[in-house]
Amino acid sequence: MKSFGLLVAGPASFLILAHVQVWAQSPDPISVALYTQFSEPPPVAVADAMERELLAIMRPAGLRFDWRSTADAGHAPPATEIAVARFFGRCDTGSLVSHTPNPGPLGWTHISDGAILHFTDVDCNRLRDFLEAGMLHLPPPERAAVFGRALGRVLAHEIYHIFANTQRHGSGVSKAAYSVEDLLNGVLRLDKLGMERMSAGLHHSSAPWARDVAPSPRANEF
Ligand SMILES: [Zn+2]
Repeated sequence: MKSFGLLVAGPASFLILAHVQVWAQSPDPISVALYTQFSEPPPVAVADAMERELLAIMRPAGLRFDWRSTADAGHAPPATEIAVARFFGRCDTGSLVSHTPNPGPLGWTHISDGAILHFTDVDCNRLRDFLEAGMLHLPPPERAAVFGRALGRVLAHEIYHIFANTQRHGSGVSKAAYSVEDLLNGVLRLDKLGMERMSAGLHHSSAPWARDVAPSPRANEF
């Protein structure tokens, strides 16, 4: 990682010190076999946007993703790193209605005896409830891409927990709670601490898949 300070002249004749981090890009990213299981298959536009956002967030941390279906797991090639993501409910943007959102956790990752497992769950129905009011004003053709991007952010949060191997939170993608604005607007990325935790976790862990398939893992919302 490299970092440097950048001195910028502000408009009112005072100086603003901005801190800019440039993270060294891994020349050879780690490929994660990401097995997905959907209660209902998402529209292509949602899936594409989710995949793009997850890669945009995690590529600077040195990860790329080989998206696979759990249905094909029996004859899939071996992988260095594996994660499983299950998506519950409707992962589309049809039949949106406006109501007060109080959805509960949007995603959670499983732990067993204090060890973070490579299993994560995302609740599309809760995410829909949370974002409906914010998406209603969008033209319908844009909703799928925006919802898919939000799904990618929720998934990236859980992938952070898995590969940083931590239950701790911070800011950026690793913040403990997302607002509607966090999920629908702007850019959401790993911050410096999140990147450091990812680096430490990736260099410490080594394919704990065999341990992770222990039956009946406990789900924790973190
Ligand atoms: Zn969390």
